[in-house]
Amino acid sequence: ATSIYGDYIKSVIRTVKDWPEPGVNFRDITPVLQNSAAFRKLIDSFVHRYQELDIDAIAAVDARGFIIGAPLAYELGCSFVPVRKKGKLPFRTISETYSLEYGESTVELHSDAFQKGDRILLVDDLIATGGTMLAAARLIERSGGIIVETAAIIDLPELGGGDMIRAEGYSVFAACT
Ligand code: AMP
Repeated sequence: ATSIYGDYIKSVIRTVKDWPEPGVNFRDITPVLQNSAAFRKLIDSFVHRYQELDIDAIAAVDARGFIIGAPLAYELGCSFVPVRKKGKLPFRTISETYSLEYGESTVELHSDAFQKGDRILLVDDLIATGGTMLAAARLIERSGGIIVETAAIIDLPELGGGDMIRAEGYSVFAACT
């Protein structure tokens, strides 16, 4: 599924070729954030989808996931939980390490972030291979959360990340592709 404003939001996102390295087309969301009407439409498209779904908490992935996760939590009236890169959270943490194209990465969550059975919406800015979202989803389930859906601004379909996340049994929503 994509949002009603998907084509518009996509038109405002900027693609930067060969950044941060040759061969990568980086999807830069900062033009959406600069444009208050576009940013509002983006957040509203998530609010519209989730306002009736009894979300207890938004779990958002460090760092661009925070930009959409925080206003969404505010608007839905639910809690906000950061899923952070290794070494950033001060209290007791649980962690998941996953592989990247070159090397690996680790995401962490505070061990008291959720109550067992809490209904969680997991958000990030973009799904590429899906590895980050899946690692975050595993963390949330290990801490007793139930994932209602995984949501992103952009799902890059050519990389198959969305399908990989669905193959693990999660629902996936993106504002655009
Ligand atoms: P992946 O784990 O491969 O799905 O990668 C998703 C994470 O990497 C997200 O947190 C994105 O912010 C970042 N990312 C990967 N590829 C891109 C891209 N082409 N443009 C912008 N961000 C990207």
